[in-house]
Amino acid sequence: MNRFGFLQTSFGALAAPAVPFYDRVDRIVPIRADPDNLIRVTVCTRPFRAAGPRLDVEQLGAKTIFHNYGHGGSGWSLSWGSAGVVLEKLLARSQGEREIAILGCGAIGLTTAVLAQRMGLRPTIYAKERFPFVRSARATGSYTPDSRIALTGAAAADFPALWERMARDSFTMYQSYLGLPGTPVEWSDRYVFSNRTLEQASAAQARGDTHGFADYSDRIQDVFPGRTDLELRNGQKPYRVKRSRRGMGMTFNIADYSRQLVEEFKIGGGTIEPREFVTPHDVAALAQRLVVNCTGYGARKLWSDDSLVPVRGQIGWLPPQEGVDYGMALDDLIITGRRDGIAVQPIPHGDDTGWNDDSEVPDTAAARAGVEQLARFYATAGS
Ligand SMILES: Cc1cc2nc3c(=O)[nH]c(=O)nc-3n(C[C@H](O)[C@H](O)[C@H](O)COP(=O)(O)OP(=O)(O)OC[C@H]3O[C@@H](n4cnc5c(N)ncnc54)[C@H](O)[C@@H]3O)c2cc1C
Repeated sequence: MNRFGFLQTSFGALAAPAVPFYDRVDRIVPIRADPDNLIRVTVCTRPFRAAGPRLDVEQLGAKTIFHNYGHGGSGWSLSWGSAGVVLEKLLARSQGEREIAILGCGAIGLTTAVLAQRMGLRPTIYAKERFPFVRSARATGSYTPDSRIALTGAAAADFPALWERMARDSFTMYQSYLGLPGTPVEWSDRYVFSNRTLEQASAAQARGDTHGFADYSDRIQDVFPGRTDLELRNGQKPYRVKRSRRGMGMTFNIADYSRQLVEEFKIGGGTIEPREFVTPHDVAALAQRLVVNCTGYGARKLWSDDSLVPVRGQIGWLPPQEGVDYGMALDDLIITGRRDGIAVQPIPHGDDTGWNDDSEVPDTAAARAGVEQLARFYATAGS
């Protein structure tokens, strides 16, 4: 070894930057990954539109319809911003009218109703289902505003800027739900433990995105607390995998968050009327002239909107566990630790998983396989 090589080896080791106390990562609380611990398996269809959500205005006889549906895998994340965009249009045409009808009581309908009240309107919700029976109740619960939101090639040129506005407005509103009793919303750590190199990971991502889903995440990178590549920055290796990363994400504890939204709506004088609409003309029977259509995937049938593509997603739920408030991505498996359960979500075909599949029948064998994959991670990388 020459002198330079020696210096590199010995001083290289000595000169490795010390890990700041706040960045040290030990092994995280292991999840009790036993398939027999599954408490439920939920399935729902993401209401995906290649062009992005439908937010236009339509005149139907005497009624003015403001559409607010088709938010793909980002309905919770964009809800406040999307409601703001639609209600701005409504206010511009309201001619001072305050009574409005909202069709649908999922993430989008409920949020639109609460925001409308805050703007001084008097909304009534009409919906076939309400929480916990709506599809929104079966979401993972992460702030993921560009998850299956549009196809890059099909979205209008001005959509990315509109998306950014919706993502930022929602983000801002979500900060006002932090620290509340019941923890409706919280920040938590997000880990990536991967046995793929960076090149292998991007190749796998490309393989799982044959449709060209839009990725706008660069536009809002500043809202996330700094990401840390553990191996690169600190040389830490809590598990025996090729890549370890840690960032932070915002979690929606949907059981409590939806309860708080419903309560706020009711305290504001709102009512939820059970009602099923079979055709758009059924809205003629409503007393209100101004109608916001927040029927999600239901709009495919109700409004004959074939541009809505179902993207099936299934989650196996393990019971909530002390200390498991983090999220974790293993190769093809997403784990989200929430206060109301631990979501175990296999995505064997990346973002393409569930494309154009409208079956909402749970696949128990696949859910058990997801938990077994998690158990294998501890057995191999954690031994
Ligand atoms: C597995 C999975 C994980 C997801 N994870 C996330 C996540 O982490 N973060 C995120 O932001 N998004 C996530 N999503 C996406 C999110 O769940 C959807 O974008 C969101 O639920 C859409 O909300 P919505 O209010 O439009 O629809 P829905 O929740 O389906 O609500 C529609 C409402 O309209 C009513 N309705 C429909 N048709 C009619 C009719 N004909 N007559 C009367 N009422 C009607 C329904 O009863 C319901 O009240 C996920 C989706 C899936 C499948």
